[in-house]
Amino acid sequence: MHDRDITPEKFRELADKFTRYIAEYFENLPDKPPLAQISPGELKNRLPQSFPEKGEDLSNIFGDLDNLIMPAMTHWNHPRFMAYFNSTSAAPGILGEYLAAAFNVNGMIWKTAPASVELEETVLNWFRLMLGLSDKFFPIVYDTASISSMHALAAARENAFPGKARREGMFSLPKARIYISEEAHSSIEKAAITLGFGLDAARKIPTDENFAMIPEQLAEAISEDEQNGIVPVAVVATVGTTSTTAIDLVPQIGEIIKDKNIWLHVDAAYGGSAAIVEKLRSKITAGWENADSIVVNPHKWLFIPIDFSVLFVKHPQTLKSAFALTPEYLKTDEVNGAINYMDYGLQLGRRFRALKFWFTLRYFGREGLEKIILRHVDLANDFAGFVMKDNRFELLAPVNFSVVVFRALPKNENADINAFNEKLLEKINKSGKLFLSHTKLKEKFALRLAVSGVRTFAEDVEAAKNIILEEYEKLTT
Ligand SMILES: *Cc1c(COP(=O)(O)O)cnc(C)c1O
Repeated sequence: MHDRDITPEKFRELADKFTRYIAEYFENLPDKPPLAQISPGELKNRLPQSFPEKGEDLSNIFGDLDNLIMPAMTHWNHPRFMAYFNSTSAAPGILGEYLAAAFNVNGMIWKTAPASVELEETVLNWFRLMLGLSDKFFPIVYDTASISSMHALAAARENAFPGKARREGMFSLPKARIYISEEAHSSIEKAAITLGFGLDAARKIPTDENFAMIPEQLAEAISEDEQNGIVPVAVVATVGTTSTTAIDLVPQIGEIIKDKNIWLHVDAAYGGSAAIVEKLRSKITAGWENADSIVVNPHKWLFIPIDFSVLFVKHPQTLKSAFALTPEYLKTDEVNGAINYMDYGLQLGRRFRALKFWFTLRYFGREGLEKIILRHVDLANDFAGFVMKDNRFELLAPVNFSVVVFRALPKNENADINAFNEKLLEKINKSGKLFLSHTKLKEKFALRLAVSGVRTFAEDVEAAKNIILEEYEKLTT
């Protein structure tokens, strides 16, 4: 029976075992299937249905990790996990998480965790500088881009209806609108639901042949709504859409709304990280200085263990007005210039997330991270080059970052192309050697190959190419 925590001596012993376990995990990862090869319910059925009544030694857990947990794992850290936007965790961030759990401070206000609050301020400001953003932007970390964007839109609502929405609720307000492109991430619509705008308030603007929002259509939609008494609250421009990594024309969008009280939020959850690369920056951050808020997820493409999403806000006071219920005892800290992060959002408690970012930035430096991102971009372009040259395949979208959207063309001209690609994807993922995802582009079923893993190198993309070709040939013969 255990009725007190593991002793420091025992901890040392056990932690050594876990450290070795993790190191071996990384060593053996390339031999495992990137996508879990199991059916829903399989793991649940193998786990006991009753809770442990008696405590046991944690060294017993290794067998179960191997036999139960591993087969049910989709390995995001796998070099040939090329689905979605592959988010991977590098070792420095893993060590940061380990320490954060040990310290277990709660950064709700400065006093409860000065180290967490001030390290967060510092590393987020480094990040702002790495992206080339001016000091007009106040950075804050939330768990995910969905939550960052929800907070940005709450600030946008506060900006449109100061004091009123938070006090009287949405029923007291006129009909409002948030503009997004057809390709925007679903998190914006979820934010519209959550904040009480309602799903219908998210108006989808059509996109051009590059899947970017058409600015003229945005301008027309805004004036139509204004004529009908609907209040335009925010425009969300996406830089690096989830489906094809399209880039909305932020400068033009900014120009359209510059004399209006409309909040411009840039969703660059994936693509934004690439702005740390000097030669890619201007293409990515064009028009950002006119944005009111920007979200970038270092947990997506800067190898920070999930979760770590940074929201840059130009008007932190507005964000604060949307949420703060400042109790008397906090006001002195404010006077001393200390940040109480609890005032800038929904949550009170905050994890010491800055540690993992600090470790990662110090280990790689901007230079090291730039090199990895450039490697990904080059590898994606190489793969796109192969797709364009080989008449068995077709490129379906521009490669703006490190994702290639393409499809296979069956040799039999009468074959259903969508069905063929769906089958091909299934075969690839069942091979246990590669994991790709898909998207649908104007009725075309498309395959997506993302190169964004810290452990992904040229040989992995080469292997991916061969696996795709092998499965293609098996399907056609
Ligand atoms: C991934 C992604 C999101 C959602 O990110 P979470 O951190 O998982 O909430 C939002 N927008 C874009 C463009 C994304 O790529």
